[in-house]
This record gives sequence, structure tokens and C-alpha cells, in this order.
Amino acid sequence: MPNIIDGRAVAEKVYVDLRGEIAGLKSKGITPGIAVVLVGDDPASRAYVRSKDKMSRELGLHSVKLELPESTSQNELLARVDELNRDPAVHGILVQSPPPKQIDETAIVRALNPAKDVDGFHPLNVAKLAMGDSTGFVPCTPLGVQRLLIESKIEIAGAHVVVLGRSMIVGKPVALLLMQKAQGGDATVTVVHSRSKDLEAITRSADILIAAIGRAHFVKASHVREGAVVIDVGINRIEDKNDKRGYRLVGDVAFDEVAPKAKAITPVPGGVGPMTIAMLMANTVKAARQSI
Ligand code: NAP
Repeated sequence: MPNIIDGRAVAEKVYVDLRGEIAGLKSKGITPGIAVVLVGDDPASRAYVRSKDKMSRELGLHSVKLELPESTSQNELLARVDELNRDPAVHGILVQSPPPKQIDETAIVRALNPAKDVDGFHPLNVAKLAMGDSTGFVPCTPLGVQRLLIESKIEIAGAHVVVLGRSMIVGKPVALLLMQKAQGGDATVTVVHSRSKDLEAITRSADILIAAIGRAHFVKASHVREGAVVIDVGINRIEDKNDKRGYRLVGDVAFDEVAPKAKAITPVPGGVGPMTIAMLMANTVKAARQSI
């Protein structure tokens, strides 16, 4: 049987480490602070914001939850971001995606103080990741994937990592992170996407396969080499009449057929998901530390 990588357990370990660091900062008079901004009332976004706020409070962070109406204009949102940029009690700012259609998300991200951009999407932080400058902020999901691999004692250096997907949120940053000349990096990385030829032959050559495409059960046993490590970032809803919500969440990997071939694999839910919030908390603590 493969090793099932338990993201909840690794996230708990991250929180234990963070609690120690937060206590140290508080003893110096600094309470790390995070502001999460939600525009509109998308139920999924609301649930994400609630769980981020809950976790921040559990860790004893200063947590600001800013809920703005669906009709909020670009200028109103920019004004609120500016206030948070200047608020010394707030070390990290996150504007929940996706915002309503009148909002230009790219402009909002660019308006963030890069030193408070704990999501790691500001161009300065993207550049720092590409340059290997560790003072920058790396997006939370890629950072969580790397931490899962490290905590599971999976050798990254020299491994052939194949990343399925090239988004700015997951695919590109996870590729940059794992190829860095640094601890937790040094992998040989191939990125495949919707225009790649011979996709299956490429994924089959992976020692570590990271799936981030948003297609339920796309990765089949035929995509995976015997003994590979499989990290499933995907979160997809599929209809399930047996579930009281009428749907359930599944990954990009057909878990039941891939797991028997894998050396280690993450489940969905309970794999990468819990790491994303844990890394948001870690980035906020880092922002507070770097503010000194
Ligand atoms: P995205 O922005 O939609 O990007 C998907 C990528 O997959 C694109 O690069 C696309 O290629 C590629 N792709 C789509 N269909 C493909 C196919 N049939 N063959 C090959 N490549 C294909 O998605 P994302 O934001 O990166 O998210 C990916 C998944 O991760 C989603 O299920 C999302 O919900 C999940 N996610 C989970 C977390 C977490 O905390 N666990 C965080 C973020 C995202 P092109 O570029 O050629 O279009």
C-alpha cells in the first residue's frame, strides 16, 4: 500500500512550530496581524474567509475580517487596501479571489504593499521567487506542496518533478520553487499544460507528479510510473446524490486506480488543502518577523 500523505497532520505540525514563533514575537511586543478582505457574498469565498479568520484567532493573531458589499467599486476597494497597507497592526493582507466583475484584480494585487502580500501574487514577490530571494512571499499552495514533500521525507533534489498546469497560483510558482538552488529545491522540473504533446509519456517519467489542472479524476494509472509520488492539488465538485449537499469534492487524480502504483499520494480532501491555510499563517508570521 502507498504512503497516504496526511495534510492535516503536517498542517498541525506547522501550527505547533508557529505557536512557538508567535509567542516569541509577542514577547517582543509584536502580535502578527492579518487582514482578509471579502468583496461580495460568494458562498465558497465566504467559507474560505471564515476558516482563515478562525485559524488566525486560534493561533492568537490579530485578525481583521473586512466584508464589503458586492457593489464595492474599484476605488473604494483601493482605498481600503491603502488603509490596511498603512496600518502597523496588520502585517499580512489577502483579498479573497475571485472579486466581483467590476474589480480589476490585477490592479488590486499591484496596490498591495509587497511586504504585506502574504498570498505572494504581487509582481515583486513573483520576481523574488524567480530570483531565489528568500525575503519574498511564495504563494501558499505551492509552499504547502513543498512542505508536504519535505515533511514526508521525499527526496526533491535531483528528482524529476512533472507539474500538470501552469497557472500563476499553483503551476508556475510550484515549478519555480522546486527548481530553486536551495534546500527543498534542486529538482529537474517539467511543466505540462493543455497544449503539451505526449502528455502521458511526460507524466509517466515523473518521480514526483503534481496535478493542478482543475479536472476531476484526470490523472489515471496510465499517467503514473510505478513508485512515483503523486501530489493532488485539484479541488473539483462532482455530483453525488448520496451526499446531503448533492456533491462531493474530488481531486485531479483518480485516487483509487493511481494509489496502488504510487509510493506516496495525497488524498482529496485532507492532502494539500489544509496546507494552504497553514502556509498563509506561516507567511503572516514571516511578514511580522520581517517588519521588525
Ligand atoms: P487554472 O488557473 O484553471 O489552471 C489550470 C491549468 O491546467 C492551466 O495551465 C491549463 O492549461 C491546465 N489544463 C487544463 N486542462 C488541461 C488538460 N486537459 N490537459 C493539460 N493541462 C490542462 O487552475 P488553478 O487555479 O491552477 O487550480 C488548479 C486546481 O487546483 C483546481 O482544481 C483548483 O480548485 C485547485 N486549487 C487547490 C488549492 C488548494 O488549496 N488545494 C489551491 C489553489 C487551487 P492552459 O494554461 O494551457 O490553459
